[in-house]
Amino acid sequence: MEQWLSVRQARGRITAAVTPLAQTETVATAAALGRVLAEDIRAPFSVPAFANSAMDGYCCRFADIADIAGESKNESKGKGKNETVLAVVGEAFAGRPCARAPGEGECVKIMTGAPLPPGVDVVVPKEETRAKENGGTVAILPGARRAGLHIRAAGEDLRAGETAIAAGELCMPAHLGLASSLGIAQVQVFRKLRAAFFSTGDELRALDSKESGELAPGQIYDSNRWTLRAMLERMGFAPLDFGIVRDDIGALSEAVDKAAAESDFIITSGGASVGEADFIRTVLAKRGEVLFWKVAMRPGRPLAYGKVRKPGGGETDFLGLPGNPVSVMVCFYQFAAAALWKKAGRKEYSPPPLFPAIAGARFKKAPGRMEFQRAILQQNENGEWIATPLPDQGSGILSSMTRANCFAVLPEDAGPIEKGETVQVQPFTGVV
Ligand code: AMP
Ligand code: MG
Repeated sequence: MEQWLSVRQARGRITAAVTPLAQTETVATAAALGRVLAEDIRAPFSVPAFANSAMDGYCCRFADIADIAGESKNESKGKGKNETVLAVVGEAFAGRPCARAPGEGECVKIMTGAPLPPGVDVVVPKEETRAKENGGTVAILPGARRAGLHIRAAGEDLRAGETAIAAGELCMPAHLGLASSLGIAQVQVFRKLRAAFFSTGDELRALDSKESGELAPGQIYDSNRWTLRAMLERMGFAPLDFGIVRDDIGALSEAVDKAAAESDFIITSGGASVGEADFIRTVLAKRGEVLFWKVAMRPGRPLAYGKVRKPGGGETDFLGLPGNPVSVMVCFYQFAAAALWKKAGRKEYSPPPLFPAIAGARFKKAPGRMEFQRAILQQNENGEWIATPLPDQGSGILSSMTRANCFAVLPEDAGPIEKGETVQVQPFTGVV
């Protein structure tokens, strides 16, 4: 018997059942964008490795200027008795340190990023100083200061030995920058996930088929394989296209075996409706354990998930999505994404967050299923975010996916959402 599950339950069950890949490879840090890290990256040294200046200015011993600290506000600036004149005894540039330690009454001109000379504990920004004509001295103007001001302390970002990036994190631009700042030129990542996919259906015609001519009556072009491929590619996986498979036990068995042999994860579309499900069910029952669920959601209801045996030993995850093009995309984002990321080695992946917006029109909804309605999110002249549903929410209306920029996510038990009420939206940015 099929079970009715909520979206959250279905996602939870699928992700819980997935075991991450074990194989890893080493790649240049520059090539690791979008890959999942397979090792902890530890800081081999502290960052910053040395104390340095956060400003262009002059550095000196705080004790020398302490008597003009913290009293500037109500005093006229620049008056002789409120200034401290220091002798400039050297210059420090980023990459060109000044070895001389300024003594009492002395300072060093310093640029942002330059290492602090020994004995110095404050930097005074250039704007808070006045150069003297002869150039050999500088007047420090009164100002609220303390020891350590405008200094980036050694190790304030990372301490030597500390984990800078944990295994299981997705390498984003900042991660690559951080690894590079630690002098790490190569990183160990999980190998690319091999994600197989195929479409099922006698009505489908391949876009890339060599046959010429018009679509025969009742035929449609297969679109799901192109959306699936694109979604997989955007996640950085290796897509493996197994084409269109007819609604036929022999053809399906062959496709499942071939895909299982070559991939870590199989995603199919179609064939889950009442009449056809029996084929897939028969085929899968012989090859592993795959459960069929009804998920309380719209679009996309029938879902199959389980594992099939690889002909040579081992298992491959199998996720059977509904056939309707919008259901494929919604189910991919709601179920496949989290499972694929886990399989690819990612430790913490949570679906993109929801944000409240104001309904720009009525969202039609009956209690019972969670709905993912295509909507357009726009800011009005008051700066408020307004979400307006697209008129046609049919699960076959793929054009609405191209026009929308967010999903309005309506909870299972909710009824209609009236214009002006709050609606939760999931912007496509970061989802799609
Ligand atoms: P099914 O789940 O196989 O009953 O398919 C449900 C609906 O989605 C039917 O109208 C199919 O024609 C359509 N459909 C199934 N697979 C595809 C596909 N690969 N591309 C476009 N439409 C499809
Ligand atoms: Mg079908």
